Amino acid sequence: MRYSPDTDPVITLTSGPVNAYPDVLRALGRTVLYDYDPAFQLHYERVIDKLQTVMRLSNRPVVLHGEPVLGLEAAAASLITAGDTVLNLASGVYGKGFGYWAARYTPNLDEIEVPYNQAIDPEAVAARLRARPEISVVSVCHHDTPSGTINPIEAIGAVVAAHGAYLIVDAVSSFGGMDTHPEACRADIYVTGPNKCLGAPPALTMLGVSPRAWAKMKANPAAPRASMLSILDWENAWSRTEPFPFTPSVAEVNGLDMALDLYLGEGPERVWARHALTAAATRAGVRAMGLELWAATEAIASPTTTAVRTPEGIDEAALRAAARARYGVVFSSGRGETLGKLTRIGHMGPTAQPIYAVAALTALGGALNGLGHPASVGNAIEAALSVIDAAA
Ligand SMILES: *Cc1c(COP(=O)(O)O)cnc(C)c1O
Repeated sequence: MRYSPDTDPVITLTSGPVNAYPDVLRALGRTVLYDYDPAFQLHYERVIDKLQTVMRLSNRPVVLHGEPVLGLEAAAASLITAGDTVLNLASGVYGKGFGYWAARYTPNLDEIEVPYNQAIDPEAVAARLRARPEISVVSVCHHDTPSGTINPIEAIGAVVAAHGAYLIVDAVSSFGGMDTHPEACRADIYVTGPNKCLGAPPALTMLGVSPRAWAKMKANPAAPRASMLSILDWENAWSRTEPFPFTPSVAEVNGLDMALDLYLGEGPERVWARHALTAAATRAGVRAMGLELWAATEAIASPTTTAVRTPEGIDEAALRAAARARYGVVFSSGRGETLGKLTRIGHMGPTAQPIYAVAALTALGGALNGLGHPASVGNAIEAALSVIDAAA
């Protein structure tokens, strides 16, 4: 489809999927090789090796060929058995949602749930594990995207590891946009994807799987096998000499390959720094405009998404519609519990550039003014610029 000035946004500043890097879009157009062509098998092995480097893993990651919900559901189906007691940590819609999958595989589900503008306290996790020694699996969402808040997964991971439970982490919308990786939080299954901070389209899931998680899944007779939900089927698929369980998404693997090259080429620290700076500039502007952040404290506000509380009396859908109609800027809404209560400005991959903070604040403030809610766009831009300039 060609660009259409009447229907295409000027800038998509969502919390994923995000607009892909132009180089990634070009890579999607590479020749679609036959999956059993030795050239593709070698290519696939190299992409998995590159992904291992990017995920800073000491063993090989797994790619599943569907967007990241596939990896999350597969993790629940493969790792959790009826004999497990699962402690699900919910600070938002995704964290809560993982509990529903976990409940399919075990009747023993416990939960710590906090208001969706707060983060999970590792001390509360430690206390629950002390009170319930039978807890064998803990699940947590790192960045609960519909809230724009970050959970302290490294501290939580240390507590869970001390207890000996398995840890499942959803890092779909944080990985690649900040300093996080599976072994740092001692995750047994760490789920991420290309369609948020790595700036590729939605179609794959990448998983870090610990050696003991492989062992637990293999010992689980109910773990999916010969199934789209299987992780086990893909254990050896990285190898150029092993068959694929079914046809991998060849074009998407090419897109991922380019996204990984861009990430390594720029340097992860630089990538994380521009995510953090874009978010900091946006937060400064939001406050200078007289608006409130959704996150209870700035310390838990995500570097990859800024969630702005909807002012009293404003229809959030109308606010986003005005931003799109007047300025061609697309924001994300909340989801589930947070729908209608906040607007999300994504800083992910190609949109994690400080100048986009200025565009976002202009469109948000302009739309609010149009709806009769006074917001000083000038103050917001001044505040954002001073954050950006201080970092220069
Ligand atoms: C985007 C995202 C996923 C993937 O799920 P979709 O809702 O299908 O996009 C999973 N977890 C988190 C935290 C995400 O942000």
